[in-house]
Amino acid sequence: MGGTFDPIHHGHLVAASEVANRFDLDEVIFVPTGQPWQKSTRQVSPAEDRYLMTVIATASNPRFSVSRADIDREKATYTVDTLRDLQNQHPDADLYFITGADALASILTWQDWAELFELAKFVGVSRPGYELNVDHLEGHLRNQPADAVTVIEIPALAISSSECRRRAAEGRPVWYLVPDGVVQYISKRHLYVPGGNGRVSPA
Ligand code: ATP
Ligand code: MG
Repeated sequence: MGGTFDPIHHGHLVAASEVANRFDLDEVIFVPTGQPWQKSTRQVSPAEDRYLMTVIATASNPRFSVSRADIDREKATYTVDTLRDLQNQHPDADLYFITGADALASILTWQDWAELFELAKFVGVSRPGYELNVDHLEGHLRNQPADAVTVIEIPALAISSSECRRRAAEGRPVWYLVPDGVVQYISKRHLYVPGGNGRVSPA
């Protein structure tokens, strides 16, 4: 599961847990992005902070782990590179790429999308405020196996990292939207507050 994870929140964790259960996955690897190419207009918190928050949030689940593949890569993050790296590291694994409905909708803006389907099966999960369908992919999916993209309904959590950042910037609580350890990490590192670490605006 790739993401900016700025910060990681319970929407991400429920999505991962639901897909792991539904597809009987051995492991879910969270892969925080390096420099997110689609988010270059806003400042993103330092990769190390996003990585550590992801580690804190996933540490208690034996099936969850975190990969540095994207944050240690010099260039901007493309999902195809992430999947190639993961395939090299786990040559015998069947890879599934977990995305929310919004990310799935923009799948065709990703690079080398045709190769993406060769590297992994895609699982789109429902997300409040976004329509979950693959109709726009139909033309491209015609020549793909039926399970190239699966969409599943998961418990709806209307949480976004943007809203968490906005709340932290305004001094409002993020308790229960993100894991407790992440609340404490945000506060310890002064993330998302004006003049704090890594960012100047919460937008
Ligand atoms: P931002 O508001 O900064 O874009 P975000 O909450 O969308 O943050 P990302 O790191 O961009 O989080 O998302 C990583 C992945 O998790 C994406 O595939 C996204 O669709 C999915 N996702 C994020 N929040 C939810 C949610 N509440 N329910 C389901 N999927 C989610
Ligand atoms: Mg997002």
